[in-house]
Amino acid sequence: MSGPRVRIAPSPTGYFHVGTARTALFNWLFAHQSEGTFILRIEDTDVERNRDEWRDGIISALNWLGLNFDEGPFYQSELLSDHVAAAEALFANGYLYACECTREQIDERIKGHAKPGYDGYCRDRNVARSELTALRFRVPDEGTTVVHDVIRGEVTFAHDSYEDFIVVKSNGNVLYPLANAVDDRSMTITHIIRGEDLLPTTPKQVLMWEALNHCLGVETVALPRYAHLPMLVNEQRKKLSKRKDPVAVESYRDQGFLPEAFVNYLALLGWSPRGDEEIVPRATLVEQFRLEDVSHSPAFFDVKKLSHMNGEYIRALSLEAFIEAATPWVAPWSSDWRPSDREAPWTREQFDPALFNHVAHLVQERVATLGEIPAMVSFFFLDEVPFDDEAFAKTIANDTGKRVLGLAFDDFATVDWNAAALHESTLRLGETLGLALRKSQAPIRCAVTGTSVGPPLFESMELLGREAVLERLRGALVRADA
Ligand code: GLU
Repeated sequence: MSGPRVRIAPSPTGYFHVGTARTALFNWLFAHQSEGTFILRIEDTDVERNRDEWRDGIISALNWLGLNFDEGPFYQSELLSDHVAAAEALFANGYLYACECTREQIDERIKGHAKPGYDGYCRDRNVARSELTALRFRVPDEGTTVVHDVIRGEVTFAHDSYEDFIVVKSNGNVLYPLANAVDDRSMTITHIIRGEDLLPTTPKQVLMWEALNHCLGVETVALPRYAHLPMLVNEQRKKLSKRKDPVAVESYRDQGFLPEAFVNYLALLGWSPRGDEEIVPRATLVEQFRLEDVSHSPAFFDVKKLSHMNGEYIRALSLEAFIEAATPWVAPWSSDWRPSDREAPWTREQFDPALFNHVAHLVQERVATLGEIPAMVSFFFLDEVPFDDEAFAKTIANDTGKRVLGLAFDDFATVDWNAAALHESTLRLGETLGLALRKSQAPIRCAVTGTSVGPPLFESMELLGREAVLERLRGALVRADA
């Protein structure tokens, strides 16, 4: 393939972040619309902070979102010898120099200096390399590095605002900016699309990339184009915080967001489709997305809007697809994947798949996430009605409530058993007590379902059957008098 080559390069130091998912999507869209190649490189060199489950989480999150990669996963930890070789070449050509200063010595020297950072003390001292020396990059004293950014235009960085930064630590570890540039170079990445937080390291990488082109001579590799994506912010317009904001893609999967809805929502974080409609299928995203149209203003990650969109996607599913999508939450034992933080409220024996298939359309209209389904239908499967005490006190444990249930118990014993007749009967018994339908329905709903909200009552009672409903009305009356 001769199209662009893009990559994501996440570090497995935490759950797969929604920001990384957005970066992955924009790379994927860009690759897909231009016959490009999307590469996954896992930057797993920080052994203390990496965890296997986070590394695997990157791959499973990408699979879930349908952001398949064409090459990889490559593991940066397997490429260490390339990083060392690059550092040696830079050193041999004078781009790096050995520095023996300790942090304390530097701090002592720069006390009171107007310019913070390393003062270049070892630059021209020809310090011999040992296990106590780090290697620093000799940043030119003058001039600027201009980063050509597709989203931000030309961003100019003055060299005098950069210290001679460390590239190789005294323990031999090659640090992120070089390792990242070396791998991008050897993978001939043409476009680096990543979060704005990495913009300040970009001039360092440009300087090192050009230096590598110079020292590794023959194989000049063109600098990539950069595109730094806007930051994601929370409701307070603050950068999303790992601790305070729900940022783990996995938790959205656990809650029952649909991957297509999630992808659609992520696409709107910094970009907007041409028309007024925000619900845009993936193929249209691929067709319309333009990297140069991405905004540089922060993008609000709005969980409410995401939930709303998810509800729309849920309602757009066919009934079969909805039932299938609900399986991990309602019948986890029949599903390869199941949400990690919740269990179905019923056992395998209590659950009746045929009944669920019947009631599914009633809940499909009402949920924003698949995780909301079990609570909404548990009354169909649990032997004991799952009473919400507050709703019970309000609707049943009083004279009106008890009178409604008494009348309903008599009427429902003989009424035709279908939703329309049950509706009619509830309306009538309410009238005899001077109650509007809303009021006469409330105690019946609570007696049958345990709460005051849920799927349409009359259809639910029809499905539950006469005997079960009468039993529940009687049970609620006994409970009210207890
Ligand atoms: N591994 C780094 C990170 O996760 C680099 C990412 C990049 O260059 O795209 O922040």
